[in-house]
Amino acid sequence: MNQLFQLSGRTAIVTGGGGGLGLGMANSLAKAGANIILMTHNEPKPGVLEQLRSFGGTVHSITADLSDLSKISDIAAEAIKLAGGKIDILVNNAGIIRRTPAADHALEDWHAVLDLNMNSVFYLCQAIGRNMIEHGSGKIINIASMLSFQGGINVPGYTASKHAVAGITKSLANEWASKGINVNGIAPGYMATDNTTALRQDEKRSAEILGRIPAARWGTPEDLAGPVLFLASSASDYVNGHILCVDGGWMNR
Ligand code: NAD
Repeated sequence: MNQLFQLSGRTAIVTGGGGGLGLGMANSLAKAGANIILMTHNEPKPGVLEQLRSFGGTVHSITADLSDLSKISDIAAEAIKLAGGKIDILVNNAGIIRRTPAADHALEDWHAVLDLNMNSVFYLCQAIGRNMIEHGSGKIINIASMLSFQGGINVPGYTASKHAVAGITKSLANEWASKGINVNGIAPGYMATDNTTALRQDEKRSAEILGRIPAARWGTPEDLAGPVLFLASSASDYVNGHILCVDGGWMNR
């Protein structure tokens, strides 16, 4: 059983891996033996790389603005070089949210969200996917959302982007399953991170949300440790184009 979830010798890229859900997933992959390349918007906080290294694999970081699409192929090439030529796992986690009612949603916010949450996800999948196709194997995990399925409130750009993440995931899964690449998604429910600070500070919305979660608590980055390991490892070799909800039962309700 352990062998099924073993990642020793494999290299994983985690975007937005400096904190929040990304760091939770990077920790899980590193504990299973993976070498980690974090892609972070800003320099990682002190201690983050050291903690990941304590699990035994190599750890590198690339600091870049992934919403600058003109840089994606250079960033991917740098990661492939750091990995010694082969990337095994790509976790597309970096994402932003802009909360304004649809009638007032600024064009700038719309584009910022779509550039990072949708466009960078496709172009990074493409750039790293080419490397995986060359080697005949790979695991891509795109971080979706409950708003890959539902409409949300006051976040039209985010909802559009996360529906697109589900679409990109299924589309690439169909093309690449026969090439040894599994493309899947994780749809986190309501998780306690920077992404949801505003929601958790709004007493009314916070209570409404909590009241609808069957597990009766907000999720944490640690709640993604098992699901990401499953989708990054041989345990999921016959799972393609699936969006796994990790939501304390929210979607079921
Ligand atoms: P977070 O704000 O803590 O993390 C987002 C990460 O993206 C940060 O590390 C940030 O540095 C990075 N990032 C932002 N702009 C970037 C850019 N231009 N270039 C590169 N990196 C950039 O929030 P989180 O909750 O950890 O979010 C992680 C992912 O999970 C996001 O895709 C988010 O949409 C998704 N998600 C979160 C929740 C939740 O409840 N927290 C629910 C569903 C989905």
